[in-house]
Amino acid sequence: MPTFEFLCEDCGREFEELVFRRDEVIECPACGSDRATKLMSAFAVTGDSRLSGGGCGSCKASASKCGGCGGK
Ligand SMILES: [Zn+2]
Repeated sequence: MPTFEFLCEDCGREFEELVFRRDEVIECPACGSDRATKLMSAFAVTGDSRLSGGGCGSCKASASKCGGCGGK
C-alpha cells in the first residue's frame, strides 16, 4: 500500500495517508484543510547506494565492502 506522510500547512499536524492516485486531494484529519505537504520518505534518500552497482555509495569503490572510506 502506498502510504505517505503529510504535514498540514494550516495546523502543523503530521499524519499518514494512503494515496492511490497522484492527484488525490489530501485532507488534514485534524482541521480538514486540503493544504497538506507530502514529506519525503527516508528510504527514498538512503536507498541510492544499492542501485549504483554494489559499490560504496560514498566514494564509488567497486568492492562490496569499501575499505577506503568505511562505507558498505
Ligand atoms: Zn490541519
